[in-house]
Amino acid sequence: MATSPTAIATMTVAQISNPGGDFEIMEREVPKPGRGEVVIKVEACGVCHSDALVKEGMWPGLQYPRIPGHEVVGAINELGAGVSTWSIGQRVGIGWHGGHDGTCPSCRRGDFRNCRNIKVAGVSYDGGYQQYMVAPVEALASIPESLSSVEAAPLLCAGVTTYNSLRHSGALPGDLVAVLGIGGLGHLGIQYASKFGYKVAAIGRGSANAPLAQKLGADVYIDSTATNAAQELQKLGGAQVIVATAPSAKAMSALVNGLAPNGKLLVVGASPEPIEVMPLQLIAGSRSLQGWWSGTPADSEDTLHFSELSGVRAMIETYPLARAGEAYARMMSGNAEFRVVLTM
Ligand SMILES: [Zn+2]
Ligand SMILES: [Zn+2]
Repeated sequence: MATSPTAIATMTVAQISNPGGDFEIMEREVPKPGRGEVVIKVEACGVCHSDALVKEGMWPGLQYPRIPGHEVVGAINELGAGVSTWSIGQRVGIGWHGGHDGTCPSCRRGDFRNCRNIKVAGVSYDGGYQQYMVAPVEALASIPESLSSVEAAPLLCAGVTTYNSLRHSGALPGDLVAVLGIGGLGHLGIQYASKFGYKVAAIGRGSANAPLAQKLGADVYIDSTATNAAQELQKLGGAQVIVATAPSAKAMSALVNGLAPNGKLLVVGASPEPIEVMPLQLIAGSRSLQGWWSGTPADSEDTLHFSELSGVRAMIETYPLARAGEAYARMMSGNAEFRVVLTM
């Protein structure tokens, strides 16, 4: 028997009521879409390190209670007024880029990724740690059929961040590209870098991750606890790009001397500490530092299609929504291999 979506009155959510509070599993009314919005029946939502911004109250002006989650995949359940290009039942995803205004100076130049009034899913509005979620249409990416919702979810933040930053880094096939950190972002960065045709040096702490890094596509593994990683990169000719995924400013600072002339340290791992670099380190060899976050929904679709084509997949541990607190703690412990995904 067919059931109408409006017959479902309540749903389970995992919310944070105040900064530093625990996840509260509770029932809420299923939300209705406004103009230009859709309701998504969530199937999977990745647990990302940036969810700590909501959990610990580190985002200025954030309104509580808030439901985090910006690696969301589900099926459209209801269309708001004015929505014509998406259909009920269509599988969609929402990443960090949760909406843009279309009118600010960046948007007027087509640079939606850097919208001055960017909305972040799970920060500006309730995200994917719930069974039904409202999202604006400009935040939606369509999900290829061959990827399951659990597989697709981490690609919408960790995936697009590494894929999109690397593809815009200026590195060419055959160039030496280093990936700092073999974790949630790094294990995807190594795979993309390898599939892009770079010579990939993975940099990790200790020797335990060497076999995995090589399995993911690294040509060289550098143990930063046993050697001077910058010197090791210079022995290989210097890195054109170092994509810094480990959230350690100290580890990033130590690698600047590993860059080739015109090389770039591409910062994607968020650390609250300052990166230290002497002006001469940058001046000599015209080296640079660049930060990068995420991408637009179109960039997410490119990431998903490339992953489908090349076989790049996140390594995933799944938890049910009711155990969101445990899933978050597992992610924060740094011991998860490597992305944690909630299922609804
Ligand atoms: Zn994220
Ligand atoms: Zn804008």
